[in-house]
Amino acid sequence: MTKTPKLRVRKPKDPSYWMGLALKEAHKAKIRGEVPVGAVIVKDGKVISRGFNLRESKNNPILHAELIAIQKAALKLKSWRLIDCDLYVTLEPCLMCSGAIIQSRLRHIYIGTEDLKAGACCSLYQVFDDKRLNHQPKWETGLLKEESAQLLKMFFKELRKRNKDKQKLKRALPAL
Ligand SMILES: [Zn+2]
Repeated sequence: MTKTPKLRVRKPKDPSYWMGLALKEAHKAKIRGEVPVGAVIVKDGKVISRGFNLRESKNNPILHAELIAIQKAALKLKSWRLIDCDLYVTLEPCLMCSGAIIQSRLRHIYIGTEDLKAGACCSLYQVFDDKRLNHQPKWETGLLKEESAQLLKMFFKELRKRNKDKQKLKRALPAL
């Protein structure tokens, strides 16, 4: 008797699945003491690149999660045009990253939480909606918002506590 082979039907993954992977990247940044922001780029139902913030470790102001993911994706596709590619990022892109997103022709940008101090998508600026530019990526915000925001909140809370402890220790030490 022959067995009928089981058909493996792949269910298309929903956006929160991909944002979950971006959050995993953000955790990697946190472990290294970096502001926890993570990104993944997805094409045809597959992750083609990942990135997390490495600004502090590499002393490089442009090593934001999105820029790392964009560069890796372009190398992989051997093209600077990331056509039909979607970006999932845990924090609203800054002005620099939004520029790179437009330059690379990314299709759809999914954002975890908004950045009221530096966001260039819907907070400080709305560059993706500017019709004067030659490419307007689609975008939406609020995907796994709580998780993305909580990670950042906890990081800054711990950072403030560490800085306070340091100051306390300094004051407690006798002057030499
Ligand atoms: Zn950025």
